[in-house]
Amino acid sequence: MPTAVSWFRRDLRLADNPALLAACDVGDVLPLFVLDPAIWEKSGDPRRHFLAGCLAELHEATGGRLVVRRGKPEDVVPAVAREIGAQSVHVAGDTGPYGRTRDRAVERALGDVDLVRTGSAYAIAPGTITKDDDTPFKVFTPFSRRWREHGWPDPAPTPREVSWARADSEALPEAPDLGDTEVLESGEKAARRQWERFLDERIADYDRQRDRPDLDTTSRMSAHLHFGTVHPRTLLHDISGSGQSGPGVDTYVTELCWREFYADVLWHRPETAREYYNAELAGMAYSTGKGAEEDFAAWAAGRTGFPAVDAAMRQLLAEGWMHNRMRMIVASFLVKDLHQEWTRGARYFMQHLVDGDLASNNHGWQWVAGTGTDASPYFRVFNPITQGKKFDPDGDYVRRWVPELADVPGKKVHEPWTLPGGLPEGYPEQVVDHAQERTVALDRYAAARGR
Ligand SMILES: Cc1cc2nc3c(=O)[nH]c(=O)nc-3n(C[C@H](O)[C@H](O)[C@H](O)COP(=O)(O)OP(=O)(O)OC[C@H]3O[C@@H](n4cnc5c(N)ncnc54)[C@H](O)[C@@H]3O)c2cc1C
Repeated sequence: MPTAVSWFRRDLRLADNPALLAACDVGDVLPLFVLDPAIWEKSGDPRRHFLAGCLAELHEATGGRLVVRRGKPEDVVPAVAREIGAQSVHVAGDTGPYGRTRDRAVERALGDVDLVRTGSAYAIAPGTITKDDDTPFKVFTPFSRRWREHGWPDPAPTPREVSWARADSEALPEAPDLGDTEVLESGEKAARRQWERFLDERIADYDRQRDRPDLDTTSRMSAHLHFGTVHPRTLLHDISGSGQSGPGVDTYVTELCWREFYADVLWHRPETAREYYNAELAGMAYSTGKGAEEDFAAWAAGRTGFPAVDAAMRQLLAEGWMHNRMRMIVASFLVKDLHQEWTRGARYFMQHLVDGDLASNNHGWQWVAGTGTDASPYFRVFNPITQGKKFDPDGDYVRRWVPELADVPGKKVHEPWTLPGGLPEGYPEQVVDHAQERTVALDRYAAARGR
């Protein structure tokens, strides 16, 4: 029987997996996962934990046949293909900068064995949607219009009976001990449960509720989408099939499109994973030295004295996830109140987020810093106090994550310095004066733009 390798990367599922189906068309299928030190060592423990759970489930779903090997993919994949005499190796195309380079290296090393790319991690593969003159979109709204017009295929069927091939496997990676951090349940089944609950109970109100970090109103599909325990095509298909319509559904589809937009931007401009998309602000002056290090440490630990910022940073440490509105607030605070470069915040997020995704994260940061596509204007400085009062109107979010403030009632929790008895014990003083730092930020931006 001819044999193919199904090399799983960011598509850790059996359902709606066209690359797996393509491998099944060849004959017996060897399910392979390469534990690439270049990725594993850079991932923080929360992401490793999630990945380890996904692999354990995939192992079970493949009848215990998942082969895990550690090493450089350009060494491991050809070695496995040779070992089992595979005709071809099947993957979903990786469109990120590292994945593209890695796959070219693997392709070269495979020689006569084909590396077959089928599909991608997106409803529409990055690079597909362009303007009429074939140039990439730089602004989200026209991209999203074209994206919807283009449409996407139906989900691929789940293969009924796969004839899994055998090869020696190393031990599956152990899920690291996360201490008090409790991350979202991983794996294809958990993704399905999480999604069905959202689709049945939450999506209709998503447009009105999604900005409320105190309520559990968003889908929490980001880590599942990142690791491919579900494909966005499935989500879009389920939404249409649910018979639901209206602003909730519409807004949700738009959010999925943001993910696709940033992946498309990164496809066309891979260097923007690290560099400024809009070089106009590349000469910004940032704070450095001991004071800046102390400020960064306070931000990272959730001890800035700004309750909304502190609650969000502590949620990140506790769950490996943070609500989108809070990501914007803490990113603005780091860049515009503490005057630190967005790249530093982006790196910290990548270490701690379970859903850490180069395209969405680094372009999310660039959006806030005013250096990205379609960016928030540089002069938009989020006020962490008014943002907190607006989006956490009863203060429940802050009280949940900042125990020092747990007894402060209602909205007052956003301004604990105004309490008659002074700051509650253990809660820090504000590290900066927001109004003053806003002016400093605007001056620095003006100077950078004047260069
Ligand atoms: C500074 C910053 C950093 C971010 N880093 C990441 C990251 O590393 N990984 C990541 O997946 N998202 C990132 N986002 C986007 C967004 O915050 C998360 O996708 C969202 O909070 C995940 O929760 P959810 O699945 O409940 O989202 P929902 O509100 O339920 O949205 C559904 C899905 O749409 C996509 N989505 C929603 N908003 C955005 C957005 N602004 N950009 C791109 N995709 C979006 C995600 O795939 C998300 O799962 C970042 C945003 C900012 C401002």
